[in-house]
Order: sequence, then C-alpha cells, then structure tokens
Amino acid sequence: MNNKTNCLAAIPLAIFTLTANAEKIALVNGTLINPGTSQIVRDATIVINGDRIAAAGDAKTISPAAAGKDAKVIDCRGKFILPGYIDTHVHFFQSGDLYTRPDAVDLTKVRPYADEVAWIKKNLPDTFARYLRSGITSVVDVGGPFWNFEVRNSSNSTAKAPRIAVAGPLISSVSRPQLDLGDPPIVKIDNPEQAREFVRKLAAQNPDLVKIWYIVDKDHPVDSFRPIVRATVEESHARKLRVAVHATELETARAAVEEGADVLVHSVTDKPVDDAFVKLLKDRHTILCPTLVVFERYGRTFANKLNLTPEEKAWGNPEVIASLDVTKLPQNQLPGRIKTALADPNAALERIKKVYDVALKNLKTLEDAGVTIAAGTDAGNIGTIHGPALFREFQLMKEAGLTPMQILQCATANAAKLFGGETGAHIGKIDNGNFADLVILRSNPLDDISRASEIDTVIKNGAVYSADSILR
Ligand SMILES: [Zn+2]
Repeated sequence: MNNKTNCLAAIPLAIFTLTANAEKIALVNGTLINPGTSQIVRDATIVINGDRIAAAGDAKTISPAAAGKDAKVIDCRGKFILPGYIDTHVHFFQSGDLYTRPDAVDLTKVRPYADEVAWIKKNLPDTFARYLRSGITSVVDVGGPFWNFEVRNSSNSTAKAPRIAVAGPLISSVSRPQLDLGDPPIVKIDNPEQAREFVRKLAAQNPDLVKIWYIVDKDHPVDSFRPIVRATVEESHARKLRVAVHATELETARAAVEEGADVLVHSVTDKPVDDAFVKLLKDRHTILCPTLVVFERYGRTFANKLNLTPEEKAWGNPEVIASLDVTKLPQNQLPGRIKTALADPNAALERIKKVYDVALKNLKTLEDAGVTIAAGTDAGNIGTIHGPALFREFQLMKEAGLTPMQILQCATANAAKLFGGETGAHIGKIDNGNFADLVILRSNPLDDISRASEIDTVIKNGAVYSADSILR
C-alpha cells in the first residue's frame, strides 16, 4: 500500500536474521529489581535472546518455556537481578596510580609519563575486565586524548569490556603541558572562535559528549571563560552533541548551566546549593554526577591515609594499588605536595571533611528536589580505582542520606540517561528489547547498599560470566 507497510513487514524478518543463531537463556526464580521505576518482581523470569532481553516479568505471566526448548535455564533462587551498573565518570587515559597526573604531582623522574601512558594502553583489556568484575557493564569516559576514541572502538570488539561512551579532549580554561605527549587530554582554548573550531574537529570523531574543563581561580575568573563556554555549547548543540562541564564552585556551575550545559560532572563543593540553582537544574533537565570518592583520594593518598575498600583491594589492579604507597618513594624525589601532606596528615583529612560537609549535603538537597543524579567516580585519578571505586561512591552516597533504591537508580536508569544516544536508551533497565547487561547478586542490595558488591554473575551483551571467573 505504501512505504510504511513495507517497512513494518520487513521488521520480523530482520529480527529473525539477527537472532537465528543467538543463544537463548532463561533466568528463573530470582528477584528482579528495576531501580529506575522502583519495580521489584519476586519469582521473576527473564528471557535473553542473543544480546537482548526478550521478555522480563512475573513467572505467572512469562513462562521459561517462552525462551524455547533449547534455552539454557539458570536458576536464580535467592538471588537479586539488576541492570548492570553504569559508572558515568571515568578516564581511561589515567591508571589511578601515583604517576598518572604529573600536573598534580611531578614524579616523572621516578617514572617517565610516556612509560605511564604506554602501561595504560597495554593494560586496557585488564582495566575493562575489572569493570565487568565489579558488575559495571557501561561507563562514560568524560575526557581524554583523541586516542580515547580508539578505546571506545576496542571496547566494542572486546567481550569482557563495558560499553563505553567518550568525550574527547577537554576544552579548558587552563593549560596542562605536563600531560602533552603530542595528543593532549586537556587543550587550553583562548577565544570563542577557537572553541568552535575545536568542537568541529571533535565532531568528526562522533563524541558522545563534549567536555569543558571550567577551572576558576584568581587568574581565571568565572566571567572570563564564559564566552568560550557559550560558544562551545552553541557549536555542540548545533551538531546535536551534548556538553558536560567540570564546574565545582556554585557560581561556576550556575554559569555553565545557564549557558546550556547538559551535564555537570562533579558536585558543587564550595558552598550549599541555593533554591535558584536547584530550580535551574530542574528546569533545564541537567544531569549531575557527584563523583564523591575522587574528592578524598588525592589527599588521602598523599597523606598515606588511603582507605581502599575490600572490593578495591580485591578487584583493583595490583600494580596500581602498590604504587599508591607514598612511603616507598625515594625520599629525595618527594614532590612538595606529598611532603606537606605527610608532615600533617590531619590537615589533609580535615580538608576532605570540609569538602564532604558541603558535597554530601548538596547531593541530598538535589536528590530530594528531583534533580537527575547519575553515579560516577572519576576513576583513573590518583587513588580512585578503575572498577570497584563505584562501591566507595555508593558508601558516600549512603552517608549523604540516599536510600539503596535511590543509589541504584543513580547507577542504572539515571546513568543510562547520561550515557545517552541509542545505547543509553537500551541500558540501565531490565526491559524487552534492552541489551542483556545484568548483574546478579547473592543478597538483597535494598537491605543495605553494601550488598551491591556481593556479585554472583555478570551478564554483558547476553554473555554470562561467573563473577569469580572474570579476573582469572
Ligand atoms: Zn574527571
């Protein structure tokens, strides 16, 4: 009759072709939790066909037989099935070790930065696997060199890897020459025209986000960089690209959102958020990622007061963790920042407490007001461990006063919104047609969020991994 009818007729055939040889799995007898809608289904059946969820719901309405006779049946009695977790703030160009930010502490005489970056690239498959071990099936890389786009490609072709959304190099108010090996992660932009030109260069790589590093100090006031933020947002939005902004002071964050930022990648840490700011975020549907864990980890590492969780010690990269012991550094190579922290560790801890006094309270205010909060860690920064750092983030979100269901919502459905695009629309929720990315827990995370790390099985793209087997 018309094109529309022809199109519809073609769909079933296309689905058949894609899934004809795909493995079918039925998860039975478990408790399904969809944090995005607070849905809890006991005695649930989830049918997986290839890389997608084909059906999910009550066993009374969905029979395991729906998966077909040849389906593999997995008994999940006593277990809890959630959408795979999503960490919406990581950096693959950073390892989390002590040498990964020579602009923060210069230890290049102990380990040249080029060696550090070579190690990072070589170990990417290991880093990917550590995310999967932690139940994290998708991550957002919020800024790095242009080779980040290759990281996205390689995760797409690696089974034991999370899905990755990436921003390219950061459009920055300040320069970081220590990180420039020819493909710098942070690019200082001096005027709006340069910003537009850089967005056009980024657009050629199909970034999932454009990132602005809105660093403010006495030499770089909020207003001086604001026209560059405006131009970046305009040029990005004209290309249907979303803009994520690092802005940790209230007035910087306000300026960023007023200029059209879609995502704030950190908490506001300098003062309590006010009603006008909360309303602004709600009106603009801005997503905020708190990254609480990263605020303690530089300071604690340098002061030799690192508080890695059991999950981080077990599932973090051992070489990265070993490097974080600052007492092992040659004494004559200690950077000033580490010397100062070691001389007065309590001062370092006091500074962290001050940040948390503000940031945790702000998180609770924004959550209560209904602002979309997406969980994220800033993993890759010194002391923030790729993969399991998310469980320290959960602890801190709990300290802020969020319920387990709210925390899990931040790490699934809300995080999927930050991830964005076609993929973002098909993750973060156990639903027909979504990707079969799941985490199966041994106990109920709604009783205590600490149980979110009691991981039995991880399913990514329909492939089932016993959690204990992933890092072997
Ligand atoms: Zn970051």
